[in-house]
Amino acid sequence: MAIILDGKTTAASLNDATKIQADKLTAQGIQPGIAVILVGEDPASQIYTRNKHRKAEKLGMKSVLIELPETVSQDEVINEVEKLNQDQSIHAILVQSPLPDHIDATTVTNSILPSKDVDGFNPTNLGKLYGRQPGNYPVACTPKGIMTLLKQYDITLAGKNVVVIGRSVLVGRPVAALMINQNATVTLAGRFTQNLKALAKTADILVVATGMPALISGQDIKPGATVIDVGINRGADGKLTGDVDFETASQVAGAITPVPGGVGPMTIATLMQQTVELTQWSLNNGK
Ligand code: NAD
Repeated sequence: MAIILDGKTTAASLNDATKIQADKLTAQGIQPGIAVILVGEDPASQIYTRNKHRKAEKLGMKSVLIELPETVSQDEVINEVEKLNQDQSIHAILVQSPLPDHIDATTVTNSILPSKDVDGFNPTNLGKLYGRQPGNYPVACTPKGIMTLLKQYDITLAGKNVVVIGRSVLVGRPVAALMINQNATVTLAGRFTQNLKALAKTADILVVATGMPALISGQDIKPGATVIDVGINRGADGKLTGDVDFETASQVAGAITPVPGGVGPMTIATLMQQTVELTQWSLNNGK
């Protein structure tokens, strides 16, 4: 049976450390501030944003939740972002996805100042990540949280064969870049990849981020491999499952993240951590 990579416990310690840092900054007169913009009434997005809002408050930060109607124009959303860009009390800005079809998500996220881009989607921050540039800059929270979780369990990357299934800008691409930066040999696979399961079986570290329930099962995993299941899928019974069949995979893997309780809690804890980091970096012009 695989070691369970416990995101819940790891996230709880990360939140404790974040609270200490947030309190220190507040005592210096700079309370970290995060603003989340939610457009429309998608129930899952409402839950995610309210959870982020509550967590930030719990960790002693200023937290602003801006809820805009589904019919809001792209210019109005960008106008809100620009107000937050100017607001000295806000250090981190996040626009919850998905946005309605009439709004171009890239245009909106690109309007966030790179120094407040807590999701790491701005081309400036993406460029730094892919260019492996030195210095401090935000990185997408789920991938950064995965790296923290691997570190917590002393799972190293250098020289490892990594297969990442799923190539989104939110998860697959940045996690691949982070792992390349730590000297792993990374294959980024997607829908068009041939012999996907045979490829998955070559991985020392397998990251699955597709939104396809049970895409990968025990027989697709190299014995002893580390399996990071990013997927969050809600079944007809209301239960959450990942993209990996946990029951069979945990019999073969050396280490595995559960769903729920793996990558999910790390994402929100990393969002909080990065809000505090952005606040600290803002004092030093990003250094
Ligand atoms: P996305 O839809 O943007 O991207 C999915 C990627 O998977 C695409 O590159 C697509 O080509 C690939 N893909 C889909 N089906 C495939 C298949 N059969 N074979 C190979 N590749 C396939 O999704 P995303 O935003 O990257 O999210 C992926 C999953 O991770 C979703 O379930 C999402 O809910 C979850 N997620 C979880 C967290 C977390 O904190 N745990 C954070 C973000 C996303």
